[in-house]
Parts: sequence; C-alpha cells; structure tokens
Amino acid sequence: MLLEVSDYRWYQEFWFVLVLFVVGQVLGWFTGLWLTFLVLTFVLYIGWHLYNLYRLNLWLAYPKKNNLPEAMGLWGEIFDRCYRLHQRNRKRKRKLSNMLKRVRRFTAAMPDASVILNANQEIEWFNKASRKLLGFRSPQDLGQAIGNLIRYPSFQTFLNQLNEKESLKFVSPANNNIMLRINVVPYAGNHYLLLARDVTQLHRLEQVRRDFVANVSHELRTPLTVIAGFLETMSDDEEYASQWERPLLLMNQQVARMRNIVEDLLLLSRLEGENHELSTEPVVVAELVQEIYQEALALSEEQGLRHQFNLELDHDLLLMGHAEELRSAFSNLVFNAVRYTPSGGQIRLRWYCDEYGAYFTVIDSGEGIAPEHIPRLTERFYRVDVGRSRSQGGTGLGLAIVKHVLNHHGAQLHIESTVGEGSVFCCDFPVRMITQLSEDDFENELDF
Ligand code: ADP
Repeated sequence: MLLEVSDYRWYQEFWFVLVLFVVGQVLGWFTGLWLTFLVLTFVLYIGWHLYNLYRLNLWLAYPKKNNLPEAMGLWGEIFDRCYRLHQRNRKRKRKLSNMLKRVRRFTAAMPDASVILNANQEIEWFNKASRKLLGFRSPQDLGQAIGNLIRYPSFQTFLNQLNEKESLKFVSPANNNIMLRINVVPYAGNHYLLLARDVTQLHRLEQVRRDFVANVSHELRTPLTVIAGFLETMSDDEEYASQWERPLLLMNQQVARMRNIVEDLLLLSRLEGENHELSTEPVVVAELVQEIYQEALALSEEQGLRHQFNLELDHDLLLMGHAEELRSAFSNLVFNAVRYTPSGGQIRLRWYCDEYGAYFTVIDSGEGIAPEHIPRLTERFYRVDVGRSRSQGGTGLGLAIVKHVLNHHGAQLHIESTVGEGSVFCCDFPVRMITQLSEDDFENELDF
C-alpha cells in the first residue's frame, strides 16, 4: 500500500524520536549518566520544535517561496502545507480583486445611481452616477444617514414605510431639471440597495399627455354647454319637441354622456397632477356612505330596478382623507353595483376595520366579471361589454378614478368576482389612515 505524504512524515518523525532517544540512552549507558542524557534528549527534542516554530513564525511574517524553511519529518509537512495554503489564498485574492474591479467598472458604467445603505440607512457605498443624479460626494458622504442628504419629506416617509414594490418620483437634489424614480430593495438581511433612475424624458411625455387630455377636456366643456343649452331650449319648445322628440332625446343623452366623460377626464387629470397634494381631514365615512346610498337608491328606482340594499357601517370609524375624492371613488363603486346588478339583486355596503386596516366593501349579486378581465378593469376606457356600459351611461373611467383616489390614500382596490354570482370590490386602507373623533370634534358635532 502506498503511504500518504502525511503518513510518511509521521513515520519519519517516529523514527527521528526513536533514534534520538536510543542514542541518548546508549550514551547514558556508556557514561553511567542515563538520566542526564534522557533530560538532554528531551531538551534537544523540545528545542528542535521551538526552533521550527520560530522559523514558521518568521516565514508567516514574510511569506515568500525563497525563504520557505526546509525541515524533515512533520515540520517539513507543516511548512509545505502552509505554503500551499498561502498560494491558494493568493490565487483566491487575485480572483476576488479582478471580480471587484469588474464590478466597479460595471457599476461605474451604469447610468442609474446605486447606493448601498446599512440597517441604519447610512451610506456604505455609492457608484459614479450617484454623484451626478443625487449629488453625493466621496468620501464626505460615506457613513452619512441618507435622510440628511435627501431632505424631501416624501422621501422620509418613503424610507420609513419601505415597500419593495413601491417607487417614489422626485426632482434630483443635484439638478432641478432631472426627475428621478427611486426604488429601495432590501438584501442580505439588514442592508438596502437604493436605485435612482433618470426618468426626465418619460416624465415630460406623461406631462404632455396629461396636459393634452386636460386641455382638450377643458376646451370641450364650453361647446358642450352651448349645445346642451340649445337642446334644452328646443326641448322646451312644444313645436320642436313634438316634431323632433326622438332625435332630441338621443341628442340629450349623448350630450349628457359626453359631459360625463369630460368631467371624469378632468377629474382624472386633477388626480394625476404632479402638484396634487392630498389635504386630509377626518372623514366620517359612515355618513358619506349613507349619502351615497340615498343616491344609489334613487338611481335604482329611476331605472325601475328593485335592489335590496344592506348597510353595515361602523359609525365610530373615521378615515384621514379627502372627502370629495372618497365620495367620487365610493360612489363609482356603488353606482356600478346598481348598474351591473339585475333587478331584485342584493347590494351590500360594509365599512369596518380590523388590526390590519379599514375596509370599504361593495358586494353585489350581479352578473359578475370573468377572471381575464379583472386585472384590466382599472385601465381607462376598459369595459367588459362596451355596449352595455354605454347603455348604462358608463364612461369607462370609473374604476380608473377609484384606483387613483385609493393610491392617494395609500389604499388598494381588491376585486373578486364570479360570473353569474356577483362581485366584491374592496377598498383596503392602511391602519395609519384610520382616526377617531377628537373630543373637540365630538363637542362641535353636539353643538351643531
Ligand atoms: P363604466 O363606466 O363602464 O362602468 P368602470 O371603470 O366603472 O366603467 O368599470 C369598468 C368595467 O368594469 C365596466 O364596464 C363593467 O364591465 C365592469 N364592472 C364594474 N363594476 C362592476 C360590477 N359591480 N359588476 C360587474 N361588472 C362591473
């Protein structure tokens, strides 16, 4: 059997110790000083190890091949192994440093700013683009809390409520002409990667599109008012009304539809506006829903439908929000339920909360929506059945408005539906938007 290198060295070491002690004992036997020679052999053996330890230590301080100590037995093996370990480490180090160089070159070439933050949101590293887009300086800004360098309140809020899926748009702190979109991704447990992309072009395009829609809608308002005015005069005139009854009716319907579309488009542009700051106040949602319910009841009766309404509202549950925006979102959901639920169907309105948030839910026993349509319902002008929607006076913008209003309130719309059974539209508000009546508000309400 072939001996392993280490086995062989052990074997050598064993013979070395044996020979040393035998020689010592032979000399001791000849001189009669065997104890002295035993101690001497022992001291020699220990001295040999100490000497090799010293050489190893010296080599570890300056590990080069040409000063690698040579030794027989186990020490030779140790020196060899140390040298091989050292070589392997050097190779690994070279590989790592090449990799690091490549990563550095790659991040430097990246047009997006990337910043590494630690658990305390302090900057650990940033790439070249961060200097241009975020105005960071190296090394002064390393170790600084990022909140001290980007001082927008919206950015602070964004950092405090970090959510991977959300992004934030703001003007670059380094250049007012640059618009940035920021994403923060957690990684390695307690670190964050902040990515900032220059979206100036996209932002301008969006602005042009928004302005165009808002301007066209605004321009259409005046001619529509004039046409509606003339149609009203003609309808009031008995001669015209008798001769042109049907055309007048159709024209009135179409003008009303166009007005609704224009108003919805203007509302959407307002909701989308960059400068749209949400001024919030405590909203008594239960009262708001009661008012919407009265209107829905009127709409249901007007259309000759006999819906059964069921209201389950928590009157003590208030929401920090914009009352008018909430009214338009909730009424869109409730009126849709009226429009798309056949006569005799049930419509249930719920306003309640649990430990995760507050919910406004509209449940109907209407026609339902096929699953393939659900993800697209909040797109503008997306309708499952265009003819049906038009005949019901729908603009195709209702759910787009709902989505925008909910976005403003940090809320989300969840839709569940089964064809032939009905639909559930749930507005899911975060806990931070829930509030309660203060004692002053309560007293004011009593005075009123
Ligand atoms: P519209 O003005 O056409 O109602 P919306 O944006 O409010 O536009 O709704 C988009 C589409 O979603 C509607 O055309 C309709 O097909 C579908 N929809 C909305 N609400 C309901 C509902 N409660 N039941 C069934 N379908 C609905």
